[in-house]
Amino acid sequence: METKPDWEKTVRRLEQLLRLKSFPVAFKMAENREILETTPFLRRPEKQQTLCQMLNLVRNFDWTVGAELKDFMFPTCPSILGLRDLPETHRDGTFRSIVWVATKADGRRFEASIPRLETGKYQAVLMAPLVYNPFEPDIVLIYCNPAQIMLLVNSLQFTDYQVMEFSCVGESSCSDAIVRCYDTQRPCVGIPCYGERRYGHAQDDEMVMALPANLVTKALAGMEALYRRGVRYPISFAGAEADPLDQFPVQYKRLDTMMAKLKGDDRQLLLGVTGGIGTGKTTVANLLREKGAPIIDFDLLAREVVEPGTRGFDDIVDYFGSQVLDTDGTLDRKRLSKIVFGDMEKRKKLESFTHPAIYEAFFREVDLIAREDPGAVIQVVIPLLVELNLQYLFDRLLVVYVPEELQVRRLAQRDGISMDEAATILKSQIPIDEKRQFADFVVDNSGSLDETREQVDELWSTIEKYKMEE
Ligand code: ATP
Repeated sequence: METKPDWEKTVRRLEQLLRLKSFPVAFKMAENREILETTPFLRRPEKQQTLCQMLNLVRNFDWTVGAELKDFMFPTCPSILGLRDLPETHRDGTFRSIVWVATKADGRRFEASIPRLETGKYQAVLMAPLVYNPFEPDIVLIYCNPAQIMLLVNSLQFTDYQVMEFSCVGESSCSDAIVRCYDTQRPCVGIPCYGERRYGHAQDDEMVMALPANLVTKALAGMEALYRRGVRYPISFAGAEADPLDQFPVQYKRLDTMMAKLKGDDRQLLLGVTGGIGTGKTTVANLLREKGAPIIDFDLLAREVVEPGTRGFDDIVDYFGSQVLDTDGTLDRKRLSKIVFGDMEKRKKLESFTHPAIYEAFFREVDLIAREDPGAVIQVVIPLLVELNLQYLFDRLLVVYVPEELQVRRLAQRDGISMDEAATILKSQIPIDEKRQFADFVVDNSGSLDETREQVDELWSTIEKYKMEE
């Protein structure tokens, strides 16, 4: 059963990430007008109004508003909502030809182009700030500027990518957002019309996105993921006079050379293996090794590139000084972690010493393995693979999964710490349920070792089949 979203939490986070200026609107069409009597805090318009006036009362005045046919001025708005049919003076193009188009023939075409909800299906409309969990909405309207709309589009496209197509009928363009969203059950963007700007007080820079209520959490999840990748609002300016390459993600710059080094003769399969702390990455990787898949362990590489005598070691000691050395002359990694924890500048510096060397070591190992076995399935175990956004390096991604409560329990048990401490440690990682969405394969390690082994057997057959098809 689908669980009801916690709208307050969802909207507050959306407002924070998008810096919205007005409240997202919960919008619902009701087949029975009695809902107007039973919805808490509901206000009815005292005089006849337009739909966009009502929307403004919701998104800017913070009101819950409900209306039926008699509350609307003119037939236009209620006909769009299917609360009534259009009179002949509208259908024949007369009404639109008074202001918006030159001839009645244009007016007829105009009127016929406006999408409308099915006439007679509904008796009332309800609108309220979504943040108050007012009722289960059919759709949600988010008013914002074009940059924010773009970020919403990007966020919705983050998983299950699809092109978004929008329309604009001109005046009465609320129908482009609202009605098309009902009809298509997809996000629809509208440019609020002249009337909505004049009577509904939509600002010059405002657009609107209508989205089915069940896509709001998807939009938020996509936005969170993009936020972690540095895509944020307000959008910071890179500098029109600067070299854009310096501002791009570092991966863009070296993508071609990195992929050339990794691909070799392109017969090996690179399997990224990740999960959360203690979910069983090592356990599963060892089982896969028994099947014949060699392991490259990023934790090991990270240690090797800072051993005494390496360039990484020298750079680190030059920069941080002898305070980061142990009595035996090796690096005191715990002390180093403490120094860079919470100090972004120092952390970046440390990464600039270690990351290039780790990548080079990684390429070397891939090359070595592929030379010996050109068709190898190479497992690359990286605990923070998703946090570091390294998915692009791999042909397939395996997430070793256990539910979060079990992860906390196992971590507490293994490291002899309290459940609270274990939960705090987990907070520094992307939740395992979010990592799952990047996975091509999931091994659920919450059962017994035998159960995990069975899944690994199955996974291995899938990988072998895939390799044969390649
Ligand atoms: P880390 O993130 O700390 O490197 P990891 O993801 O590699 O951990 P493992 O070391 O494989 O995880 O497993 C963590 C702990 O859970 C180990 O003590 C392991 O023995 C135990 N464990 C792994 N799988 C199971 C299982 N199916 N049932 C019970 N215990 C398990």
